[in-house]
Amino acid sequence: MAYEITLLPFGVSFDCEEEETILEASIRQGIQLRYGCKHGGCGSCKAQIADGEVDLEEASSFALMDYERDRGLALLCSAYPLSDVAIELDDDYEESALRSGVPPRDLEARVVAAQALTHDLWHLELALTDPTTFAFRAGQYVEVRVPGTDAWRAFSMANPPSAADRVELLVKILPGGLFSRHVAGGLSVGDALSLRGPYGQFALIESEAPIVMVAGGSGLAPVWAMLGHLREEGSRRAVTLFYGARSARDLFWLDELDAMTRALPDFRFVPALSEPGSGDEWDGEVGLVTDVVARRCESLRGREGYLCGPPGMIDAAIDVLRGKGLFSSRIRYDKFVGTDS
Ligand SMILES: Cc1cc2nc3c(=O)[nH]c(=O)nc-3n(C[C@H](O)[C@H](O)[C@H](O)COP(=O)(O)OP(=O)(O)OC[C@H]3O[C@@H](n4cnc5c(N)ncnc54)[C@H](O)[C@@H]3O)c2cc1C
Repeated sequence: MAYEITLLPFGVSFDCEEEETILEASIRQGIQLRYGCKHGGCGSCKAQIADGEVDLEEASSFALMDYERDRGLALLCSAYPLSDVAIELDDDYEESALRSGVPPRDLEARVVAAQALTHDLWHLELALTDPTTFAFRAGQYVEVRVPGTDAWRAFSMANPPSAADRVELLVKILPGGLFSRHVAGGLSVGDALSLRGPYGQFALIESEAPIVMVAGGSGLAPVWAMLGHLREEGSRRAVTLFYGARSARDLFWLDELDAMTRALPDFRFVPALSEPGSGDEWDGEVGLVTDVVARRCESLRGREGYLCGPPGMIDAAIDVLRGKGLFSSRIRYDKFVGTDS
């Protein structure tokens, strides 16, 4: 049985089957509700139920607190409809954006390059084989099936949308990581991989506002796609990228970032090491990247913020940016939380 989900105040509606979550149904039908990880880890899809009933048993008490449930809030990635449902969206949703989604599709790809960039970060370049191109926005992510399993893992695309025939990923190698262990240990050029996507709303707002980016580790991937897109567009926007790494051995693509400072008319790259090694010859910033942002920036009023990396870094960066006068509605982020299989 299907229920009708209505998004207020616009009256946009879509069907949702009993056994799918409201978020799954919206993604399937190209409706752009906000979300991040899709499995209760990041809280980005929290929304107000205005009418109707939902089953929230799957939402953990950590992701959705009891008092939030009592106030009628739901995590749409974990909410199954028990009746027709009306959802009251936040004020900063726009109807045109809501309707502008591209439904994700299944994609087949082949590995054309796989290279270690640091001791625990790999760069993968995949060529799409079926279909041979696909549309996405800079900042979005795909899910990759772990070969030989039914498990899917989320990875952001590092290439700009103009490179529509390939997918570039930055993969952090995690101890015991089902997919990343396979990347570091068994993946070869020519191997086939199944993907699906695009997913996510981490994307550039169309404006001329100056940009502050804060990224950590493999969080550079979607930010790199955005920078590539801005370069190709001939954008004149001012961009500062603060990048957090532990020590010098965690830095990579320094030549590429240097080239980007020449390719974009007003781009600054500020790397920060939180724990420089004793042998590191480093005269750059030292400390948590969010402390460096706090130290280096005066007012950020009128700017846009794009944040990507571990959840702790993002929460801290949001506090810093807000404290410097940046409106919440102008901060976009993707939290790289672990993916359930
Ligand atoms: C929207 C989105 C985009 C993402 N993009 C990227 C990306 O571009 N590059 C990238 O490297 N990762 C990215 N991630 C994170 C990535 O999907 C997960 O880390 C994933 O679990 C890795 O799969 P795996 O099979 O290697 O490890 P798993 O088998 O899933 O996990 C192995 C172990 O590591 C733990 N773990 C998993 N993820 C993390 C984490 N992020 N931090 C600390 N511990 C963890 C698990 O709990 C488990 O114990 C993204 C996540 C999201 C939600």
